[in-house]
Amino acid sequence: MALKTLDDLDVRGKRVLLRVDFNVPLAEGGVADDTRIRAALPTINRLREQGAAILLASHLGRPKGAVDPRYSLAPVAERLSELLGMPVVFASDTVGPAAQETAARLEPGQVALLENLRFQPGEEQNDSTFAEQLAALVDCYVNDAFGAAHRAHASTVALAGLLPSAAGLLMESEITALDKVLRAPDHPFVVIIGGAKVSDKIGVIESLLATADEILIGGGMANTFLLAQGHQIGTSLAEPEQAELARELLARAVDQGVAIHLPSDVVVAQSLDAPEQHRTVAVREVGADDAIFDIGPTTIERFNERLDHAKTIVWNGPMGVFETPPFDNGTRGIAKAVAGADGYSVVGGGDSVAAIEQAGLADGIDHISTGGGASLEFLEGRTLPGIAALEERR
Ligand code: ADP
Ligand code: MG
Repeated sequence: MALKTLDDLDVRGKRVLLRVDFNVPLAEGGVADDTRIRAALPTINRLREQGAAILLASHLGRPKGAVDPRYSLAPVAERLSELLGMPVVFASDTVGPAAQETAARLEPGQVALLENLRFQPGEEQNDSTFAEQLAALVDCYVNDAFGAAHRAHASTVALAGLLPSAAGLLMESEITALDKVLRAPDHPFVVIIGGAKVSDKIGVIESLLATADEILIGGGMANTFLLAQGHQIGTSLAEPEQAELARELLARAVDQGVAIHLPSDVVVAQSLDAPEQHRTVAVREVGADDAIFDIGPTTIERFNERLDHAKTIVWNGPMGVFETPPFDNGTRGIAKAVAGADGYSVVGGGDSVAAIEQAGLADGIDHISTGGGASLEFLEGRTLPGIAALEERR
């Protein structure tokens, strides 16, 4: 199986439907964060240089198959127009006369955006009739929406079978980076996993146990591992029903020669409403009324040492409640270490990426994944339907 790329597709003078992930946060009628729009610019520009007329399509939010003005892509068209420095036509519908007219009028080098794909029930149903309506608007199909690649929807799967198709540049770079760390990481390969829950990331830990040399665990999920080891964790967020599985993973890691590192000191408070009453304690000193909200300074230092010698680093999930200072200290410390490390670094997950960006450290990361759920499923070793649809069957 080989991914079809833009090099395999002749787009000169053609109308291209470019599926993008413009699922951006909106606020006060405008785009609150345009990271995802900017991530699509290289493919848009490449297609324009090659003389294609570009019809963009995306989902936004969860309107559940019905028109809902709160999820209109109109503000996105405006922002995109500013970024491109040229007009972007906005089609007030996804299919039907408004979409057909917009597509028919589109000249080479021009860009238009269709209304939210999820205003149509056929999108999430991967409906072939809806896909055919989209296909009728254009001559070929390019998918740059890595963030939606784990969903089998009409615009990510059915449509690819109806037209000459290829992956866009963003899709290609996501696959290249994630495939490298999943299948051929340079060693030592150190994985940092954090975030809220063990149950969200269990698949990634299991999958990366096969190739990782060391796994550093922080965040809320570390609490369940500490519980599994018999520590008292007070009122910390944890999943006691996952403790048995955590014990099993710890045993499996020993068998496979993978070192799992857990926090040795933590920052606790009685509640998130009283962060000023925080204390740093060793894990064995967590009290019955304490909740663990961050990793402690000794743990940050221990984790940083493991990153020093790494040739490959994958990080997913914050080390603490980074939204509430001072519990952002652990996440910041790890972010700095990952950004400063010599090894090839990949960061995925909405909150971890936000933490990296808030800290102004994005330049130090080799690959920042734009797809939270999609990058997790990729690292679990699963086949993503939106990627499989872009592969050449041989
Ligand atoms: P990502 O989006 O990077 O994949 P997750 O969504 O899995 O990360 O987890 C992020 C959330 O985990 C954050 O909202 C953070 O506040 C929360 N979190 C991290 N550590 C803790 C903790 N010790 N207790 C409670 N919540 C935590
Ligand atoms: Mg998240």
